[in-house]
Amino acid sequence: MEQNLWRKDFPQIFGKDTVYLDNAATSLKPDSVIAAIDHYYVDLSANVHRGVYKESYEATRLYEEAREKIAGFLHADPEEIVYTRGGTSAMNLVALSYGMSHLRAGDEIIVSELEHHSSILPWQNVAKQTGAKLVFVPLDAALRITVENFRSVLSAKTKVVALTQVSNVMGYLTPIAPMIALAHEQGAVVVVDACQAVQHLRIDVRAMDCDFLAFSGHKMLGPTGIGILYGKKALLDAMDPVEFGGDMIDVVEKEASTWKDTPYKFEAGTMPIASVIGLGRAVDYFLASDMEKMEDHVRRLRQYTYAQLKKIPGLMIYNPEADTGIIAFNLEAVHAHDASSYFAEKNVCLRAGHHCAQLLIKKLGIEACLRASFNFYNTYADCDRFIESAKDAVKFFRKMGF
Ligand code: PMP
Repeated sequence: MEQNLWRKDFPQIFGKDTVYLDNAATSLKPDSVIAAIDHYYVDLSANVHRGVYKESYEATRLYEEAREKIAGFLHADPEEIVYTRGGTSAMNLVALSYGMSHLRAGDEIIVSELEHHSSILPWQNVAKQTGAKLVFVPLDAALRITVENFRSVLSAKTKVVALTQVSNVMGYLTPIAPMIALAHEQGAVVVVDACQAVQHLRIDVRAMDCDFLAFSGHKMLGPTGIGILYGKKALLDAMDPVEFGGDMIDVVEKEASTWKDTPYKFEAGTMPIASVIGLGRAVDYFLASDMEKMEDHVRRLRQYTYAQLKKIPGLMIYNPEADTGIIAFNLEAVHAHDASSYFAEKNVCLRAGHHCAQLLIKKLGIEACLRASFNFYNTYADCDRFIESAKDAVKFFRKMGF
């Protein structure tokens, strides 16, 4: 009987019939994260930074302890960790604050067609408002971002580089560190979209030397409603908030006010306290586990599944060489949504659509595709169920005349 060390920690699937292969959309949450959220609501339920009674004090302690844990996890300082509503909000914050105040007509922002919409649309908006121009890194034949192609579009005009560390459709790893070094030679800042990277890689923002890095808690075993923006302290210090209100202020006057220091000036109003605490516990889960071993398992599951899927006639795979646990595919002549409904009937949870990456889907010459994405709590039994369902799906749609 196959042993999976981690599966028992995930009540959404443990002992159940569900084959959850939509981990790139959101990861499942371990018991410990759910318990941490429960503890906050059941025992504390108080606001942070405001009360002196013991529940508020304890909530504040857990809330700030989570910041320290997240900072440690990323090799950053706690003042460099800003809580946001999600990865999308984190990237919008950089664009609205740094982008709007630093970019001018004629400046260039490098992005790619591999980006999730939330790594490109905030910069499209900045370009529209400031007259700056979006420049796309040409993708290679396999639709990867390469250092050479990046070099070909980088120039003294480049002021911002906004790129994904791991593609949410292809599972490709961007060679980000050498690109950051090149961007810095031109004086550009680099914003890394780490939403897909954070559950697969040990991220070291110091070694990477990125200027900003964003991700969502819910993709790394944490709850929804919380995202992280890492920013180098000097950059955050020099940036203005984009939201104003309670808790972020120092002194309020009739005509003008002053803000707290970084990171608090970016955290206006009551933040998602329970989600922050839950994310702190998600970091504990990773720190207590062997992330290399987890990722190795994910790669093996992907390899095993890919080897079987590629033998199925009428099933096209778009990323034979992914670096993380994602398989993007279609069944010939069948719309991805129809196919995903078939898988859903078999209790195999996949995602179908454009995956918030319409530019990439267009580049692939399709309208939509299916995506199976693995995580460390998946098993070979999950893969077998998926493979069998894929074989049956091809037969089923053929019989139906597709
Ligand atoms: N970037 C990437 C690469 C993603 O995969 C996602 C989530 N699909 C996002 C950004 C946006 O994350 P969220 O919706 O949690 O804000």
